[in-house]
Amino acid sequence: MEKFSAQQIEALKSLVAADRFSTGTSHRELHRHDFSPHWGPLPAGVIWPVSTREVSRILAWCYDQEIAVFPWGAGTSIEGNPVPTRIGLVMDFTRMDKILELRPQDLQVDVQPGVLRKTLNREAGRHGLFFPPDPGADATIGGMIANNASGVRTVKYGATRDYVMRLTVVLPAGDTIHTGCRAPKSSAGYDLTRLFVGSEGTLGIVTEATLRLTGLPAQHLSAVVTFERLEDASQAVALLIASGLEPAALELLPANLIGLLNREKELGLPEVPSLFCEFHGISDAALDETAVLAREVCMDCGATDFRSGVSAAERQQLWQARHEAAETIHRAHPGNETLIVDAAVSISRYPEMVVFAQSVVAQAQVPGYVFGHAGDGNLHVVMPGDPRNEDAWQKLEAVNRRIVTRAVELGGTCTGEHGVGIGKRQFMPLEHGGGYDLMKQIKTLIDPKNLMNPGKIF
Ligand SMILES: Cc1cc2nc3c(=O)[nH]c(=O)nc-3n(C[C@H](O)[C@H](O)[C@H](O)COP(=O)(O)OP(=O)(O)OC[C@H]3O[C@@H](n4cnc5c(N)ncnc54)[C@H](O)[C@@H]3O)c2cc1C
Repeated sequence: MEKFSAQQIEALKSLVAADRFSTGTSHRELHRHDFSPHWGPLPAGVIWPVSTREVSRILAWCYDQEIAVFPWGAGTSIEGNPVPTRIGLVMDFTRMDKILELRPQDLQVDVQPGVLRKTLNREAGRHGLFFPPDPGADATIGGMIANNASGVRTVKYGATRDYVMRLTVVLPAGDTIHTGCRAPKSSAGYDLTRLFVGSEGTLGIVTEATLRLTGLPAQHLSAVVTFERLEDASQAVALLIASGLEPAALELLPANLIGLLNREKELGLPEVPSLFCEFHGISDAALDETAVLAREVCMDCGATDFRSGVSAAERQQLWQARHEAAETIHRAHPGNETLIVDAAVSISRYPEMVVFAQSVVAQAQVPGYVFGHAGDGNLHVVMPGDPRNEDAWQKLEAVNRRIVTRAVELGGTCTGEHGVGIGKRQFMPLEHGGGYDLMKQIKTLIDPKNLMNPGKIF
């Protein structure tokens, strides 16, 4: 099947309002590529449901017709996670974007999957609350749940998984289930919520979620710490965490990336290996004490400067620049895609991982930016290249493979936050062994016809 038949189009049109199903080329083109180097075939159509009931009816029809379904949030994934792998229907959640109920007294919110992270935080902020997982991109909550997204504040606040309490999920044949509950704790059986978080749309569609919120920090302290060597900066990370200072962000940046950010954002930072740090506290006095201790720890690790007391405006500018690092690298290498390493290891192994990654990039003589969410052991290497130049791209793939293999040997993972998608499938047997076979059995049990986002994870 390359296209829907006239009969199929009529059937799909009858399931939603006329303007919420399209076989138009431009709509289909917009749904075959995310932020990764992976391009899918043109989907046969795109549908925009607005309710659990509509999702259920669409999935039941697709199950009957044996049509593959590719859930789509904001399309900001980095591993081809929502990209079609065969002809099928893309289900776009951007019109299922209601905040259903915010309960400040319970620190909870019920949302539809298409709510954007920044929209949710604007609304929660009115009550002094926020939803901390922060992948930088303005992703949908459904996409964040499906990828178990995390980011710069995970070192203190955790990943998306830590904030999902209850889900409404439509299963492949159209049946609707609820997982979890709204109580702060429960011991009632298997944790199905955790099974669906991180499942990348391969088991079912999330149509509602109850999320835990947390209080906005009263005071912030940001610091820019410079070092002569990237490995010294990475050593400081483990000590800052062990010191009990509870950093809210610890980001490692190499000199070449700071150079790019300086040129694009006019940050005026010294172009040397650096740590961007943030601490949250109840008062300025408490944060002043934190700064004294953090400075001592960094200086003991060979820091050349520790500049704290960054103003609110500069803090915003720094984090904005950090969030846009991947896009800045893209813009600095026009015409290229980027292959992104997303390995993670325990904090104590982080410094050796940084040294290893740097040496692999240098040996291979490829362009590479080694940085990461150091506070949670997450290392990125962003490598620009042109996938059409097969030899050059293979070199990048080889670097990726060597770094991931080393991370797994050290007890780590092939993907700390981006998910498996298409790009990291090759590493799943290496990382999980027999556990991978059990994952396949779970997939077959829930989706026996392999219609839900096929070709991802497996
Ligand atoms: C510049 C940049 C920086 C980034 N930095 C980070 C980072 O620091 N940390 C991080 O974690 N990620 C990061 N990402 C990746 C990305 O933003 C996250 O993975 C995000 O969670 C994807 O959300 P999305 O709404 O774009 O989902 P999409 O990319 O559209 O989809 C993601 C997955 O969710 C599935 N899906 C979507 N909606 C549903 C649903 N309702 N039910 C079931 N499955 C569904 C899709 O099929 C797909 O498998 C970055 C991306 C960019 C572009």
